[in-house]
Amino acid sequence: MKILKKLFGQQQPNQHRLEAEEGERERIYASYRGIKRRLLKTPSHIPLDPNGHFGQPTRVAIALDPESAKDFYRGSTFCPVCGKPTDAENRVAASLEPEFANGFSYLIGVWAHPDCFARCEGTDEQRGIPW
Ligand SMILES: [Zn+2]
Repeated sequence: MKILKKLFGQQQPNQHRLEAEEGERERIYASYRGIKRRLLKTPSHIPLDPNGHFGQPTRVAIALDPESAKDFYRGSTFCPVCGKPTDAENRVAASLEPEFANGFSYLIGVWAHPDCFARCEGTDEQRGIPW
């Protein structure tokens, strides 16, 4: 028991650090609030089920990424809407949210052309947050 207590004591996190992490998490969540999903009208040009486990998504949403996500890894520079390459002069940071028939969905960071993004169908749905 004494040993457990000692171990537990060592694992007590620093309260100030916890509060700082909590504040940071809240700021990140807040940065996503109010960003709406749009819907791709044609299948994504970026493969969304590369291992073939889920089949074709039943729908694919796209939403702008907030400033807090600008450094997130994006595996492809190709626009998911038109399939053509994007470059730093002509792209927006966004997330795709594919949804599959079994209810599974996930987020993937992408680059999209601003015009292609604007052509996607608007919704009133709040976008997903990647945590
Ligand atoms: Zn495009």
